[in-house]
Amino acid sequence: MRRLAAEIERLKKVHGYRALTPARGRDFSSNDYLGFSRHPALRQAVIDALQKGEPVGAGGSRLLRGNHPAHGELEAHAAEFFGVERALYFSSGFLANFALFSTLCERHDAIVFDERIHASVKDGIHASHAKRYRARHNDVASFEDALHRAHAAGARQIWIAVESVYSMDGDLAPLEELAAIAHNFEAALVVDEAHATGIFGPTGRGAGETLGANATISVHTCGKALGVAGALICGHATVIDYLINKARPFIFSTAPSPLMAVALTRALALIDEEPWRRKKLLALTVLARDVLQWAAGDAVRFGGSQIVPVVLKDEARTLAVAGRLQGAGFDVRAIRPPTVPAGTSRLRVSINVEHSEDDIRELAVQLKIALAAEGS
Ligand code: PMP
Repeated sequence: MRRLAAEIERLKKVHGYRALTPARGRDFSSNDYLGFSRHPALRQAVIDALQKGEPVGAGGSRLLRGNHPAHGELEAHAAEFFGVERALYFSSGFLANFALFSTLCERHDAIVFDERIHASVKDGIHASHAKRYRARHNDVASFEDALHRAHAAGARQIWIAVESVYSMDGDLAPLEELAAIAHNFEAALVVDEAHATGIFGPTGRGAGETLGANATISVHTCGKALGVAGALICGHATVIDYLINKARPFIFSTAPSPLMAVALTRALALIDEEPWRRKKLLALTVLARDVLQWAAGDAVRFGGSQIVPVVLKDEARTLAVAGRLQGAGFDVRAIRPPTVPAGTSRLRVSINVEHSEDDIRELAVQLKIALAAEGS
């Protein structure tokens, strides 16, 4: 216990300490990009399901008594929605990524991953027996080089792990080029669509929508734009079958609540029913880029998505600026190492469809004031 307390003290000294705080102020930090978490249609779907007698909890693992019709209906609907053979629902994106990489990537395989890939993928990779190759962020030549090395080392199967929209950088992966090199090496491209599902792609299926079958596996987390919880792993029937049979986090864990499955089935339909939401979001994103650049200049690293990082580098200053914005009624959070690389602490401004143009302009004004007050 003394060791744990000493580590907490060290974190406090290096501005790395974290505490849970209630959500307060105008939301510029959640991933509820389309406002679905409070959407009346999703609430109604849950109320109707409860009234029809749907249980609150699944009561067991999917392979035992916890497999409910709502899970199967969601997965059938999701497979059709994303244009894949099958989908499998997990209770969180973290669990889905962990299960995927720790189960599918086996000894004699190789995994080539983007250096900025989400912690859940990194942990899954670490739990797997495959050889690891790190590629520079969004650098196709670096991926190609890693693929050459993995191939030369005799990898039986190569897996490529990328996000389509990076969670802390807000930039988009060069998916078409990555799919082309994956094809050349007969590698499996695994795309985590966490921050793109519902927003990117011609009909909101994700940034990889136009890749079709070229993305071997996609992961659509359901707690972000879809407003619910969990994640859908989408791909070939064999992949899904393999996960059901071998993925320990799937086998030895209680199934997600059937109510969440019901809400998600409704959320997928809403993506098609209310395309104005993603169009409005993308328009607000462009406004955010312009006014935040007015406020913070080059510190704004706009990557083309609704996640706009303002990289202030210094941890203490980033925390102080975030504190001032929070004091002014804006819920903007500081993101620090180890979530982002050392020396790149940032504000992660996340735009959602509930914002008015004035909300975004006011945030920019407060940001300019806060930056001036905290010096450089
Ligand atoms: N992948 C990415 C890229 C994410 O940003 C996150 C959540 N921060 C996850 C996976 C994990 O998803 P969940 O929150 O559903 O566990």
